[in-house]
Amino acid sequence: MTKNGEHEVEAAHKLRVVNTLDENRWRAVQRRDASVAGTFVYGVASTGIYCSPGCASRTPLRPNVEFFATSAEAIAAGYRACRRCRPDQPETIDFSVEAVIALCRRIEQTDGMVDISEFAATCGYSERHLRRRFTAVVGVPVATFARIQRSVRTRVALRSQVAVTQAIIEAGYGSSRAFYEDGAPRLGMTPSQYRDGAHGERISFTSLVTPIGTVVAASTTKGVCAVRIGSDESTIVQELMTEFPNAALHRDDEAMADVARVLAGAVRAEADASQLPIDLAGTAFQMRVWDVLRKVPIGETLTYSQVADRIGSPSAVRAVGSACAANPVALVVPCHRIVRRDGTLGGYRWGLEVKDALLDVERLHASS
Ligand SMILES: [Zn+2]
Repeated sequence: MTKNGEHEVEAAHKLRVVNTLDENRWRAVQRRDASVAGTFVYGVASTGIYCSPGCASRTPLRPNVEFFATSAEAIAAGYRACRRCRPDQPETIDFSVEAVIALCRRIEQTDGMVDISEFAATCGYSERHLRRRFTAVVGVPVATFARIQRSVRTRVALRSQVAVTQAIIEAGYGSSRAFYEDGAPRLGMTPSQYRDGAHGERISFTSLVTPIGTVVAASTTKGVCAVRIGSDESTIVQELMTEFPNAALHRDDEAMADVARVLAGAVRAEADASQLPIDLAGTAFQMRVWDVLRKVPIGETLTYSQVADRIGSPSAVRAVGSACAANPVALVVPCHRIVRRDGTLGGYRWGLEVKDALLDVERLHASS
């Protein structure tokens, strides 16, 4: 990996951390939680207006929302202050919230080099109390917030996601691309092992919050074996445990970091998840369908009957639909790129609105 590649991959990791912070902020917006007013503002791209959390105006759609630490940043990005919540004139009553806000600003100004206990003392709080209030108000611990501020100078750097993804592809895909060029996809887990619930296999998983929902990804030592989209992690993990009852299922964010990065990029149409090594079990027919699906590029779609043609079974259109529905690895086998001949979406295991959103962003990306 090149030096530059390492740097970019590190930036991509930060991106995930920031996503978590953003998700906490988003929840505060949804709850109209005025107690966090002053810690951030949010801009609504569709209206060009920025608000303070707690604003009584209509809750915007998540894809239109971007977060800023301060009013000044929102204004610099071209937003106007909302007349209803007056985010440019923050009012806070809770003094501990004021201390937390002051600490946020200090961390930003000093690139995270703040002596927290000293700062707490100047505000009249114990370090422990201030840290607890910070986590409650901001949604992430001080250290996480500081880490974000320290090396990635907020949004500006993070907006260059294309470059980041490019680097990921260059840095991380070398081996998996070679893996595919060597020949047909390998079946790491044999069908009998699969029926056995992956007996004795070690399966690592991780999860990431994305604009289309929570994505949980799981891998054996050979490749990705499950990618699921849902509303909450615990339900999805429960499903995986049922599916692989005899495997040792472990959360391992570190081992799964590369996969998570690619999936985070795939959701934004900036990375091609079909390049990830896979470890799938299915019937010979399903494997053929999934293989064709992995070759459909970002921004393009195939109809169910086109897929049937490509696998040499033109009459098996319905069976192709079933194989798409049985796809165990969302995004990696991009079954969302298969649509009906009349242009309507057909089905999607993880919800039609998710399919619609993915196709939308991919079309946009491909045409830009
Ligand atoms: Zn407002």
